[in-house]
Amino acid sequence: MTDPLTLHPSAALLNAFCTCIEKDIHPLSAAAVAAGSKLFGAAILLKSDLSLVLAETNREGSSPLWHGETWTLSKFFEIPVDKRPEVKDCLFLTTHEPCSLCLSAITWAGFDNFVYMYTYEETHHVFECRGDLDIFEAVFYANEGETATQASVDGKQKQVRPQYKLRNRYFVARSFAELVAAVEDEGEREAWKEKVEGVKRSYGRLAEAYRRNMGVE
Ligand SMILES: [Zn+2]
Repeated sequence: MTDPLTLHPSAALLNAFCTCIEKDIHPLSAAAVAAGSKLFGAAILLKSDLSLVLAETNREGSSPLWHGETWTLSKFFEIPVDKRPEVKDCLFLTTHEPCSLCLSAITWAGFDNFVYMYTYEETHHVFECRGDLDIFEAVFYANEGETATQASVDGKQKQVRPQYKLRNRYFVARSFAELVAAVEDEGEREAWKEKVEGVKRSYGRLAEAYRRNMGVE
């Protein structure tokens, strides 16, 4: 399988994904958070020119199954078949590394890729949303004892315990940090590192709004 995340230079992918999160996902998530949903968003883009097909956000206010990714997939398949791009021609973007439910939904929908901004560790420790890792831990035989090396946003390689195969015969999964690490020019790489940190800081503020709305300290 050709790695769909090498069809464009990493900087072009980062540019499209950061813009999509800032302009398309963030406003939707902000409104959904204000209405009692969580802050997880997703989008589908065309592989060919990185244009947006659709962006959506979490709708857990209406059903616990409508995570950002599952809701985005459901809206995607509501597009009439003659107007909907082929799944194989699309990239799947998600703000947070997909949970076990969404990971499977993306796979069953036929996507051969997904890209995420925040890792499970950030969702768990920074956002204090513990479901993703807790479910892997409690429900699955998730690679007990195994570790893998993953690029983190500070540019360093970090040991993580993988919960799933990041590259397998169904899909390739990549974090923003890995895309940043793949930018060849050092100056450009530093600039993208800062840009991603800025997008994360800005999007991360939705967590405060969520806690305030829910009355959680
Ligand atoms: Zn999910």
